[in-house]
Amino acid sequence: MKKHAIIPIFIPHLGCPHDCIFCNQKKITARQAPVTGEDVTRTIDTWLTTLGDVETVEIAFYGGSFTAIPIEEQRQYLAIAKGYKDAGKVDKIHLSTRPDYISREILDQLAEFGTDTIELGVQSLDDEVLRRSGRGHDAAVVYRSAEMIKDYGFELGIQLMIGLPGDTMETCIYSAKETVKIGPEIARLYPTVVIQETALYDMWKAGTYVPLSEEEAVARTRAMYEILTDAGINIIRVGLKSSDLIHEGGDIGGSFHPAFRQLVEGDIARDRIDRQLGFVPGGKVDILANSRSFSNMIGNGGRNKKFFLDKYPHLSILYKVDNTLQDGEYVVRSKGEKL
Ligand code: SF4
Repeated sequence: MKKHAIIPIFIPHLGCPHDCIFCNQKKITARQAPVTGEDVTRTIDTWLTTLGDVETVEIAFYGGSFTAIPIEEQRQYLAIAKGYKDAGKVDKIHLSTRPDYISREILDQLAEFGTDTIELGVQSLDDEVLRRSGRGHDAAVVYRSAEMIKDYGFELGIQLMIGLPGDTMETCIYSAKETVKIGPEIARLYPTVVIQETALYDMWKAGTYVPLSEEEAVARTRAMYEILTDAGINIIRVGLKSSDLIHEGGDIGGSFHPAFRQLVEGDIARDRIDRQLGFVPGGKVDILANSRSFSNMIGNGGRNKKFFLDKYPHLSILYKVDNTLQDGEYVVRSKGEKL
């Protein structure tokens, strides 16, 4: 049985007063009709008929600013979600919002409607990166809001972006370490993608912003990924899905790769295996991973296989599944025979 399913409901922030340089939501949503209660009900019903047997189902309001939309609209959407939760058709209610739209009043309301998880679009904990990204708040508000959310007993999520203007490997590591101090249960890591109709796009075209190369984006994301996972934080997403991109065609810049998570986890797998292979004198070798980690062992497009083939031409390597291993655990077993 599938463990977990999410029913995504995109709630745009119509009339958003902010100017985050990476966001085109305002321009796109200005051309769209608002989401009605009927839309929400229809979306949930459609998903419920197609999900099949799932252990837990979550309704997730995303769009990034749920608690910044007018209070009556929040209540309308939450009441619908609560109705499904009370009827036992869904298990959890999940939403994402800005750190500066959290208050006791807002949290009281979210608690009243049975909300379980609140994700904050933090992006960075470096004040200069926040300022240059036009977020309209500083890092201090993130700490205050996160503390309040935890005090209320909600599950906390933190979303971080990699490669915004002013961001460096150091600020990325700083943001990850500060996130560990804040102590969310879940996190998402998003390398910056430059989409049309954004200030960042104009900066890119004018040459005042240079997106990260894929290699640099993987290196920074990996450093953050390792800090967060070592602290026991569950990273529920790495990189955008193509369906997350609210754009209407045209070119995009920055680090968009449909399998970005695999690039990061494959990079980690390569080094874990490499450290073990260095001790193998020669001959036949099995490299083992469980079925979930198998593709990371091989690497995106077979890049790890190629790396090991080039680096260890004296080894004959077979890649095998061993489901007794943990996720991310790779075992190198030398067969003890020389070629
Ligand atoms: S990302 Fe920023 S500009 Fe875009 S909708 Fe959210 S708050 Fe508004």
